[in-house]
Amino acid sequence: MPTMADMKMKTDFRLVVVMKMRANFKLLLLALTLSIALALGGCGAGNGAGAASGSSGSNASGSSGAAATPALKVVTTVFAPYDFARQIGGAQVEASMLLPPGVESHGFEPTPRDLLSIQECDLFIYIGGESETWVSDVLDSLDLQKTRVLQLMDSVSLLEEEIVEGMEPEEEEEADHAAADAASADASGAASASAEADEHAAEGEEVAYDEHIWTSPENAKKMVKAISEALCALRPAEASQFQERTQAYLTQLDELDAALHETVAAGVRKTIVFGDRFPFRYLTDELGLSYYAAFPGCSSETEAKPATVAFLIDKVKAERLPVIFKIEMSNTDIAQTIAEETGAALRNLHSLHNLSESEVSSGATYLSIMWDNVAALKEALD
Ligand SMILES: [Zn+2]
Repeated sequence: MPTMADMKMKTDFRLVVVMKMRANFKLLLLALTLSIALALGGCGAGNGAGAASGSSGSNASGSSGAAATPALKVVTTVFAPYDFARQIGGAQVEASMLLPPGVESHGFEPTPRDLLSIQECDLFIYIGGESETWVSDVLDSLDLQKTRVLQLMDSVSLLEEEIVEGMEPEEEEEADHAAADAASADASGAASASAEADEHAAEGEEVAYDEHIWTSPENAKKMVKAISEALCALRPAEASQFQERTQAYLTQLDELDAALHETVAAGVRKTIVFGDRFPFRYLTDELGLSYYAAFPGCSSETEAKPATVAFLIDKVKAERLPVIFKIEMSNTDIAQTIAEETGAALRNLHSLHNLSESEVSSGATYLSIMWDNVAALKEALD
C-alpha cells in the first residue's frame, strides 16, 4: 500500500530519470536512501508492507513446526535465480524478483521501493553483468548490515562477449572498431591493437563478459549450489531441508542437461541461426554448437542492415537449416523476413531474461521453459 511519501519518492525518482542524470546516480541513491529512512521513520511501523513485487509464499511463516521462524526474504534481479531460490527454499523462503513480468530487462532501473526491498531482505542475488551496473552503486549506498549479497557471475566460468561473422556490433562497439580500423590503416596490427587497448583503458572499460550465464544448465547447477550454500549459511538449523530440495532440483537439471546433449548428438546439424540478438553463448559453448545471429546478446539494436539479413538468409540456405530462431519478447521482423525468404520455420528459443505475464500466471519455471527449448533445438538440428 503506497504512502504519500512513497508516491512522492516515486515522482522524484521519475523526474530525475527523465533528466537523464545517470552520471549522478550515486547522489540520487543517497537522496533515495535518505527518503527511505524518512519515509520509514514517518510510517513508524517501518515494515515496508509488500515491498517486493511478485512475492510468493508470503504467508509461509507459521507452516509446519517452525512457527516462530519467519521465511527468509530473498530478492533477485532476474528470473532464473528467483526460480532457483523458490525451488530450493520452499515455504522457508519468500522469494521475489525486481523485474516485473513482461518488462524488458536491459533498461531496468530500480525504484525506491526496490531499493527498500533490497535493504530489507536477508539475501540479495544478482547476476553482475553489463545490465546490472546499477547494482554496485546501490550496494555502496545502502546500509546492508543484515543482507547477505550473492553475485552469481562469481560462481561460474565466464565467457567474453563475442562478435561472430555476419553479426552487427552495437553502435559504440562499431565506433571503437572504426577507430581501430583507422589506426591500422597507417600502422601495424600491433600498434592498432595497443591503440584500441589504450582507448578502452582511457574509457575505463573492462573486458566485457557475457552476462547470460543461466542459459547453460551446467552453469545453472553452479548457481543453484551457490544459492543453496547462502541459504544454509543464513539458516544452519534448516540446512538439511535446503540441501534435500537442492539435490532433488540438481537431479532435474541433470536430466535437462542430458536431454540437451542427446538432442545435439542425435541431430544431423551443428549450426543454429538467429534473426535476432544472441544471448545463448553459454548454451552453445556447452553443447558444441556454432551459431550466426544479427546482433550480440544484449544489443539494443532491432533493425538490421540489409547486408546482415542477406548474410543470414545465405547461411540458412547454404546449410539447409529447417529453423530460423528468434528470442522471446522481441521484434520478429528480421526472423520473419528470413523465414519467408528461406522457407525455414520461425521458432522461439527462450533466453529466460524475463517471463511474460501469461507465462507467470501459467506457472512457467526455468525447467519448463528449458524443456520447450530442448524441443525447439531438436527441430532445428534434425
Ligand atoms: Zn541480456
